Amino acid sequence: MASGLRVMRGRVRLSLYALALGSGALLAHLGGPPRPQASGTHPPAMMTFTAAALAAPLTPAPVSAASPALDPPPTQEPSAEARDGQRRDGYGDGLIIEGGTPHRLILFTFDDGPDRRTTPLLLDRLDAAGVKAVFFLTASRIAGTNTMEREQAALARETLARGHLVGSHTLDHLQLPLLEDAAVAAQVIGAEEVFRRALGFRPTLLRPPGGARSPRIDEMLAARHYTTVLWNLSTGDPQVHSAPEVFDTFRRVLERRERENGERGGIILLHDTYAWSVDAFQMILAELWSRNCRLLARGEELYDVVADLSFFYQPRAGAPASAVAKPGEVSPQVLAQRQARLRVETAARCNSADGF
Ligand SMILES: [Zn+2]
Repeated sequence: MASGLRVMRGRVRLSLYALALGSGALLAHLGGPPRPQASGTHPPAMMTFTAAALAAPLTPAPVSAASPALDPPPTQEPSAEARDGQRRDGYGDGLIIEGGTPHRLILFTFDDGPDRRTTPLLLDRLDAAGVKAVFFLTASRIAGTNTMEREQAALARETLARGHLVGSHTLDHLQLPLLEDAAVAAQVIGAEEVFRRALGFRPTLLRPPGGARSPRIDEMLAARHYTTVLWNLSTGDPQVHSAPEVFDTFRRVLERRERENGERGGIILLHDTYAWSVDAFQMILAELWSRNCRLLARGEELYDVVADLSFFYQPRAGAPASAVAKPGEVSPQVLAQRQARLRVETAARCNSADGF
């Protein structure tokens, strides 16, 4: 009951806030996520809260009463290698990754899942293409309270076992800036509880639902040692119903980013909850490989699909603080090595009739 009320209140506020944001919310789907709102634009009730609710306690105070009963921890734990994959490269240092890069480096990210109808096919297609991605899971979908959630928890473990990264997309996918501190804590810590039970670890990567941020939320997430992961290459896949539409938006956004910001790559946002997004992934990858054939012929930098976030930001040692990370600086040697390997692979693919 308490949980239902909280969700309902969040939805009411969301609709009011969406009205207030107007075109700003719409723009979020055409490029990167929305920029954080200055504190003056928050509803008055939100200005009095601090980051204290998330800063210290590791025990999930508010969520335990409201959260549904959870299954016991799984007998099949993810491999040590999969767990280690979550801890590399300073993830959890409180920075905010926006995704832009001057290099043709591409990272696929998938939000809102897992979904038992669509995620299995995506995992197979990622494997077939040799692509590793990052999945931001909506924790309530893997909470284990019914058959569907148990199947989806197994899918989340499968995602890890196949070498992908997973991060938190909060418990219920509410817009965090619209919630009071205690409700934000419930969403963030509640997701951690579900991750621990379903996957055996606490996430250090988090993507706020809708990319909705505020200085208050940034500080709260940093205090809890998250790395916030945004995106610069949106596809608008929740707004359409076909893969070609998703693909067209991606192509337009990629070209616009290059024209306006000099960003030739970055972090792609898709949702593995839509069949058309799973198909669009294939189309986007085929486009990048096709462009690579032409780029190779011209001796230019090739599109390089990478497996983690280290290419997109400079980690910072020390205490967490909610700052936007500097764009990644890839060493010329690493880039040259990767490009050399990619040229060999690309040449083979472009010369083969059924390369893609
Ligand atoms: Zn989402």
